[in-house]
Amino acid sequence: MEKTATDTVKLALEEVKPFASAALKRAGCDEVNADAVAECIFQAERHGAHSHGLFRMPGYLASLKSGKVNGKASPKITTSKPAVLSVDGDGGYAPLAHQYMAKPLADLAKSQGVALGSLTNTFHFAALWQEVELLARQGVAAFACTSFKPALPPAGGTKPLYGTNPVAFAWPRENAEPMVFDQASAVMARGEVMIAAREGHTLPDGVGIGPDGKPTNDPNEVLKGAMLPYGGYKGASIALMVELLAGALIGEQMSYEAAANDNNDGGPPRGGEFILALAPNGNASLKSAEGLFSQILVQEGTRLPGDGRRMKCAKVSENGIEIPQSLFETINSK
Ligand code: NDP
Repeated sequence: MEKTATDTVKLALEEVKPFASAALKRAGCDEVNADAVAECIFQAERHGAHSHGLFRMPGYLASLKSGKVNGKASPKITTSKPAVLSVDGDGGYAPLAHQYMAKPLADLAKSQGVALGSLTNTFHFAALWQEVELLARQGVAAFACTSFKPALPPAGGTKPLYGTNPVAFAWPRENAEPMVFDQASAVMARGEVMIAAREGHTLPDGVGIGPDGKPTNDPNEVLKGAMLPYGGYKGASIALMVELLAGALIGEQMSYEAAANDNNDGGPPRGGEFILALAPNGNASLKSAEGLFSQILVQEGTRLPGDGRRMKCAKVSENGIEIPQSLFETINSK
């Protein structure tokens, strides 16, 4: 760890996981829970996804310290209807539950073509790509979505009701990294708006509205008002679908219910995640997909989703990361 001339601290990439893990254990996690969350934070930093890296640690730590999140969670498969793998996260953070459920869910999809992973009683504060990519590495296509707390208004409205509700999809490839996209239903992820507020940047047009319902470029006003869905009413309908799939369908809280029951300690609210695993039709499916990918890549200026963040890995490995001194101290405090 190196203190820079400005008020930031530089970390080598290999320092990130032990740094995060030690803080999680001090806040009440056992080894296995700390390792799962720290690995998720490390992967986010490694891929340049800083809004889901160490930036999230104060929230993770606050919810452990307040007792809202179980740092010694032991996720369990509760029911296994023919096509459904239900997992109770035991009130812990989601990464450990994902590690537990990925193989049985992929195996179930491979044996019968399709399987639904229903994750409840968990706290989700991470980027979804890691979860669908884990499934794609086991040979299945995967779709996942989760809700949070209200940030987006319904189409025509001005008051937050839906979360920024990300949707992610991964497709397995035989001789290449999986194709993965992962996108919030909002024009911009909330973490990015929070980083803009912290660093005093203005937002591009169209990201959000203030408490008065009027467009603004001030991230602090957007955080008090509402963020906007991408594509107007179309993105609002995607966010609505996520509320229904990751909430009503699997028996978990929707964003507005999660907010009503949350203790606002700075961490995520309790919620669920909907995960669909689909077995491709053998080599024919994979070959057919490769045909489409070639047609995309033949056009100048294109790349496959997922490859953008992978391209950041080499640079992050070489240069490490820089975080604000205040964030470093918060994570490092007892
Ligand atoms: P981005 O807008 O940065 O990226 C969305 C997707 O588009 C990525 O998969 C990205 O791939 C792909 N993409 C971007 N540019 C191109 C391009 N030129 N060609 C092809 N594909 C491209 O993401 P968001 O800001 O919408 O979301 C950020 C993160 O926030 C997500 O990981 C999401 O899961 C997370 N999130 C989590 C929430 C939670 O409650 N847990 C709530 C909301 C968001 P690539 O990565 O390769 O650039």
